[in-house]
Amino acid sequence: MNEQFEAIDVLKDGKSFVRLINSMGSDVDIVNGARVSFGKRKETMDKNDKVLIDYLVEHRHTSPLEHVSFTFHIKCPLFVTRQWHRHRTWSYNEISRRYTSINMEFYIPEKYRRQAKDNRQASIDDDSVIFQNGRDGKTVAEAIKNHTDSAYKFYEDLIEMGVAREQARMVLPQNMYTEMYASVDLHNLLHFIELRVHEGAQWEIQQYAKALLDLVEPAVPEAIKAVRKYRNW
Ligand SMILES: Cc1cc2nc3c(=O)[nH]c(=O)nc-3n(C[C@H](O)[C@H](O)[C@H](O)COP(=O)(O)OP(=O)(O)OC[C@H]3O[C@@H](n4cnc5c(N)ncnc54)[C@H](O)[C@@H]3O)c2cc1C
Repeated sequence: MNEQFEAIDVLKDGKSFVRLINSMGSDVDIVNGARVSFGKRKETMDKNDKVLIDYLVEHRHTSPLEHVSFTFHIKCPLFVTRQWHRHRTWSYNEISRRYTSINMEFYIPEKYRRQAKDNRQASIDDDSVIFQNGRDGKTVAEAIKNHTDSAYKFYEDLIEMGVAREQARMVLPQNMYTEMYASVDLHNLLHFIELRVHEGAQWEIQQYAKALLDLVEPAVPEAIKAVRKYRNW
C-alpha cells in the first residue's frame, strides 16, 4: 500500500482502508462557483464567503459544491462494494479477479450483531449477545474463519486443476476484500454520506461514510463545518 496518503483502518482489522489520493478544489472554488453569476472571482476566503458556504449548505443549494472533487482508494469487503456501486454518480475502477489471484484477504469481525425483529434490514449491536448453541462472538468468528479458509482452499484447488480464475472465483465468499478507486464531486459525496451514515444503513458501510467525511474535511473545512452544523451526522 502506498504510505504517502493517510489511510483510515475503517473496520479496525488491519486490512480495510480508505484514503484520499487526489482532490481538486477547495472552499474558495465553491464560493467562486456560487458567485460567478455576479462575474466575480476570488483567490482567498473572507468572512462573507464563510457565511455564503454556510447558507449554501443549510439551504441545499448544492451545485456550487460540484466544483470540488475527490478520488479515494478503498479496500472493503465485497458486500460493501455492492452497496457502494449503487451510487451511480461516482466513477469506479476495481481490482479484477479475472486478472489476479494475489493478496486475497477476508473480513472476519470479532463482534456479531443480532437480527432485529421489527426491521428486516436492521441489526442490533449487543456486547453480551449469545447466539444459539451458546456461541459468542469469538466462536462465531472461528466458524466463519473455518468456512472462509475452506472456500479459499477450494478456490486454490480449482486453479490448480486448471479452472480459469474468472470461474474459480465464484466459490469465494462475500467477506472477501476488494480494492477500488472511486471518484466523486463534493455534492454527490455528501449525498452518499447522508444515506450511508444513517442508522438504517449497514454498520460496515456507515464506518466508510464517516471516514470519508473526516478525510475530506481538511480540503473543504468550511463546507464540512456547515455540514456538521446542519446535518445530524
Ligand atoms: C439504507 C439503504 C437501504 C437500501 N436497500 C436497498 C435494497 O434493499 N435494494 C436495492 O436495490 N437498493 C437498496 N438501496 C440502494 C438505493 O435504492 C439507491 O440505489 C442508493 O442508495 C443510491 O442512491 P441514489 O440513487 O440517490 O444515488 P446516486 O446513484 O449517486 O444518484 C444520486 C442522485 O442522482 C439522481 N439520479 C441518478 N441516477 C438517476 C436515474 N437513472 N434517474 C433519475 N435520477 C437519477 C437521483 O436524484 C439520485 O438521488 C438502499 C440504500 C440505502 C441507503
